[in-house]
Amino acid sequence: MSTLTLSKTLTVKKEYDVIVCGGGVAGVAAAISAAKCGKSTLLLEKSTILGGLATLGLINLFVPLCNGRGKQIIFGLCEKWVRESTLYGYDTIPSEWKNGDPKEPTLKRYTNRFSPYIFAMQMTEDLLASGADLLYDCVATEAVMDGKKCIGVVTVSKSGTEFYGCKMLIDTTGDLDVLRAVGVPHTKGQNFATYSCKQITLEGCKKAAESGNIRDAYSGIGGYGASLWGDRQPEGVPRWSGTTVEDVTDYLVTNQKVMLEKLKATKDKNSRDVATIPHMPQFRTTCHLNGDYDFTVNDAYRHFDDSVGAINDFEHRDHLFEVPLRALCRKDYPNIGTAGRSASATGYGWDLIRVIPPAIITGQAIAIAACQAIDEGCGIANVDIKLLQSKLTAENIMVHFPDEYVPEDKTVIIHGKNATEIDGGHL
Ligand SMILES: Cc1cc2nc3c(=O)[nH]c(=O)nc-3n(C[C@H](O)[C@H](O)[C@H](O)COP(=O)(O)OP(=O)(O)OC[C@H]3O[C@@H](n4cnc5c(N)ncnc54)[C@H](O)[C@@H]3O)c2cc1C
Repeated sequence: MSTLTLSKTLTVKKEYDVIVCGGGVAGVAAAISAAKCGKSTLLLEKSTILGGLATLGLINLFVPLCNGRGKQIIFGLCEKWVRESTLYGYDTIPSEWKNGDPKEPTLKRYTNRFSPYIFAMQMTEDLLASGADLLYDCVATEAVMDGKKCIGVVTVSKSGTEFYGCKMLIDTTGDLDVLRAVGVPHTKGQNFATYSCKQITLEGCKKAAESGNIRDAYSGIGGYGASLWGDRQPEGVPRWSGTTVEDVTDYLVTNQKVMLEKLKATKDKNSRDVATIPHMPQFRTTCHLNGDYDFTVNDAYRHFDDSVGAINDFEHRDHLFEVPLRALCRKDYPNIGTAGRSASATGYGWDLIRVIPPAIITGQAIAIAACQAIDEGCGIANVDIKLLQSKLTAENIMVHFPDEYVPEDKTVIIHGKNATEIDGGHL
C-alpha cells in the first residue's frame, strides 16, 4: 500500500482535566461523573444526539437490572436514567418494579423500553446540568501520545482539525477508535447481520388508537435480523468486524438492500412507512481494549478485590458478576481508560459487559477512577481502590453482589452450553 505523509500544525483549542470521546450511554455517564467530581470535562460526539446505540442505533431497551428472582443488582445512574426515561415518553417497566423493589419474589425482570429520541434529549439536559462541555458533530480521530502518556486528542469538525489537551482520556467510541488509532493494544470482534428499523403501519396505528399507547404504532422491519446467537445469519454472508470504512459500508448496503426488497414486496404502499432507521451500525462487538484483565463468563460468582460494580446476566437468571477496574484500563498506559462496548472482555463476557446497564456503570466507574488518579497523582490502574469503591457506593453502585443471592447450584449454562466447556465462554 502506498503512503503519503502530511504534516499539519493544529490549533490548541483548550485544555481539560478529562476528555471523553463518544457520547453513547457509557460516555455520557463518564462525562457526567467526571464533571460531578469537579473536573473540567469535555464530551466529544460525532453525531447529533447523545445515547449512541441506545438512541441513535434504536436499541431503546434497558436489559434487566435484576437477577431474575426479584433482586435488583444494577443501581447508580442507570437506575436514575431508567426512571427518567419514563417521564415524557412511553415506558414498559413491569408493574412489579414500578415502585422500587418488588414486595413479593418475582421472576419478572426489571427492564424498560423507552422513546429513544426523547430520552436522548434528556441525556443532553443531564449532561449540560453536570457542567461538562459538549461538542456535537465532532469526530475524535486519535489520541496524541507522549510515549504511553496521552496528552490530548485530535478532532475534526466544521471548525477544521484541532487539538484539545487533557490529563485523562476516556475512549467510549464503542469501537476504541481513538486509542486504536495510536496502537493501544486491542482485540477486534465479529458481528452478525443485525439491522433493525422501526416502521409505522395503518394496522399499528389502529392498534395504538385502541390501546391509547403510541408505542403500539411502531413495529420492527429490517435487513437480515440475525440474533445475538447468530440465528438467521444467512449462509454465505460473512461477519463484519466494523472497524474499516469498507466493512461498515458493506454491512449497511447489504442490510439496506434486503430491507428495500421487503418493502417492494408490500402490497399497499400507502399502508406503511419506515419511521426511522438506525443512524449508526448495529454492531455489538467491534473492538475492545486489551485491559489488564479480560472479563469472561467464567468469572460468574467471583468477587474481585478491585470490583467497580456488580452486574447480572441479561439473558439468564441468577448469574452474577463483578467488573474489575483492570478491565477498563492498563497499568502501562497511565491516563487512558474505556467503558461500555470496548471494555476488556472475551466471548459472552463481552456481551455481558457491553449492554446498556453495565455500560453506564463502567462509564461512571472509569471516570471517577480517572478523577481520583488526577488527585492522587498516579495512573488510573493504581488508584486507592478502597477509596474508589467508597465513592462508587456513594453513587449508589453495588460494588460487590451479596453472597445470599448466589444460588446453591453455581453451574453456569449459557444458551444451553456449560460455560466452562466453551473457550472464554464464547459460543
Ligand atoms: C443489535 C443490538 C441489539 C442490542 N440489544 C440490546 C438491548 O436490548 N438492551 C441493551 O441494554 N443493550 C442492547 N445492545 C447493546 C447496547 O445497545 C450497547 O452495547 C450499548 O448501548 C453500548 O453503549 P456504549 O456507550 O458503550 O457505545 P455506543 O452506544 O456505541 O456509543 C458510542 C458513541 O460514540 C460515538 N462515536 C463513535 N466514534 C466516535 C468518534 N471517533 N468521535 C466522536 N464520537 C464517536 C458514537 O456516535 C456513539 O454515540 C444491543 C446492541 C446491538 C448492536
